[in-house]
Amino acid sequence: MPTPGLLHKYHGRSLLVSTGACAVHCRYCFRRHYPYQQFSCSSSVQDDTISYLKQNTSIEEIILSGGDPLVLDNNRLGQLITKLETIPHLQTLRIHSRLPVVLPDRINSGLLTLLQQTRFQVVLVTHINHANELQQLEQNKCLQLHQAGIILLNQSVLLKGVNDNAAALIKLSKRLFASKILPYYLHMLDPVKGAMHFAVSKNTALTLYHEIEQKLPGYLLPKLVQEIAGKKSKTAIFHI
Ligand code: SF4
Repeated sequence: MPTPGLLHKYHGRSLLVSTGACAVHCRYCFRRHYPYQQFSCSSSVQDDTISYLKQNTSIEEIILSGGDPLVLDNNRLGQLITKLETIPHLQTLRIHSRLPVVLPDRINSGLLTLLQQTRFQVVLVTHINHANELQQLEQNKCLQLHQAGIILLNQSVLLKGVNDNAAALIKLSKRLFASKILPYYLHMLDPVKGAMHFAVSKNTALTLYHEIEQKLPGYLLPKLVQEIAGKKSKTAIFHI
């Protein structure tokens, strides 16, 4: 972390913890064990972050994460985007958010205008685990984002008793596609205290994955991955 809240781990992109807050408390979230208070996004911290990003001309993509960056209101989000826009080598703004399905009204006209007017190519990575989370209202919001020129990708967590069967995963990919979202990652559960009853074993995950691979076109197949402590990036499960 070159400045508080800014993670620079990969070539070409950097992740900014824009807030520790979120609209929900997913039971499997690592957030409750993360010291967000150390990474407050105050304006002086933001100034240091902007100077670091300015000096590192190899960074082309900035990822807003949290918590959930869309809990920032349009004013605060707009101010942050305006500062980031002053960095000429930044081209892509990626936002990780679960709000399109847990608080769909957050996708309001002000936000759509903000994301449409920025000079950045915007990528929104949603977090949707089950097709039931995408009802008509949520689908309409995703269609509005798509119409505003935003690229939509999704990441899910494989959860025992929720989506650990081929029918549920296939239905999810198809519902995502109907909502203009492409499946991106299917994550194995992080080892979070109090959530291990959601864990799916690697063998079961692989069996499931091979089953959905037979039934879905490649572009609807998310990558099955796991975060492994000490590894620099996500590990694709079929490589384990
Ligand atoms: S939406 Fe994401 S950040 Fe918020 S509680 Fe769930 S997993 Fe954690």
